[in-house]
Amino acid sequence: PARDPQHMIDDMRAVNFDLSCTLEENRRLGEERQYLAAIVASSSDALIARTNDGLVSSWNRAAEKMYGYTADEVMGKPVANLAPSTKMGDADGIARRLERGESVSQYETTRRRRDGSEFHVSISAFPVRDSSGKLVGTSAIVRDITERRLAEEKLRTMQSELVHLSRWNTMGMMATALSHELNQPLSAMVNYINAARRTLSRAVDPAMARTIAYLDSAVEEAKLASGIIRSLRDFIDKREAGRRPEEINNVVEEAVSLSLLGVSGSRLRTQMNLAPGLPLVTIDKVQIQQVLLNLIRNAIEALHGNPAGCLKIATGINEAGDVTVRVSDNGPGLSPEIAARLFQPFTTTKDKGMGVGLTISQSIIEAHGGHIRVEPVAPSGTSFHFNLPAAEAASE
Ligand code: ADP
Repeated sequence: PARDPQHMIDDMRAVNFDLSCTLEENRRLGEERQYLAAIVASSSDALIARTNDGLVSSWNRAAEKMYGYTADEVMGKPVANLAPSTKMGDADGIARRLERGESVSQYETTRRRRDGSEFHVSISAFPVRDSSGKLVGTSAIVRDITERRLAEEKLRTMQSELVHLSRWNTMGMMATALSHELNQPLSAMVNYINAARRTLSRAVDPAMARTIAYLDSAVEEAKLASGIIRSLRDFIDKREAGRRPEEINNVVEEAVSLSLLGVSGSRLRTQMNLAPGLPLVTIDKVQIQQVLLNLIRNAIEALHGNPAGCLKIATGINEAGDVTVRVSDNGPGLSPEIAARLFQPFTTTKDKGMGVGLTISQSIIEAHGGHIRVEPVAPSGTSFHFNLPAAEAASE
């Protein structure tokens, strides 16, 4: 049947409308695809797709950089080649979980670069299905966590070094205290024995001769004891060997990250104010870090449970050209009794405190040619600061 022209025009408009809709849809899909491709290309994580047969089907630029293989070299090759031989088991485990349709979230393991070296990764992987729901392969996001792992390892080593050093320093302190305390009674003993010997030598009884010999032996033993204490002290004093020129800001930054390790999740605010261009200081880094650790831990403990708590750490230089470090908190401050004995051993207000932290800190700073002092902060809080001679000045 003949159609009236108006109908025909309407039909054509409808077709035209459909066509432009499809074109519009295609353009949108094309744009979306380009957008997704740009995300894949610019991602700093490796994005790797794999077919059901375990062959690489997509390999982005980050994967090239991370593993050292170009896309051409790995596309169509087994994904299993990327795991070191020692980690084949866990690569299989991941593959089996994906085949069962499960996802894997942030699984930490190691992978192998083209040059054979291994690196630490965190892998998240998930199954990919087509529109009918059939499993067509898997996709994985691989993040290189080598730097994080190395940093963690370094912090762990530092921590154990510091624990070792703190025992060592406590021993040194005890040796110094003991030698001071014991030397006096020991010399008094020697004097008394010598006096007894002189008195006895005037008597004529033959038994006295034997007694005198015993007293001589006692004097020898007492002298031996003094000698042992003296050599222990010399040994402890001979520990300047580990000093090197260091940048104080690096030393401070490391100590801060170490002290904040266990404090994560708390609301503690930290302000760092590190002066640029400071001269180097010739220090035993581990010892100075122990001082910092002690000051920062004390500050953190003083701020415990304080919602407005703020820890401030600043470096700078004073008029004498010495490098300065300041650790301040807005905690409760020091009571006058504690302030008066602060640097003496066994001064503590803590249940589990030894009260030797500040004593050791003071001996370390003074052994480096500096001073450590404390000031109250208004309206409340405590500020510890110490100075260290600049490296050139120290060597002059
Ligand atoms: P410990 O921490 O084992 O008690 P320290 O010698 O490091 O030993 O500190 C001695 C005492 O000084 C602490 O118990 C505490 O009372 C006081 N103190 C140190 N630093 C601070 C601070 N920032 N705020 C308040 N009190 C402090």
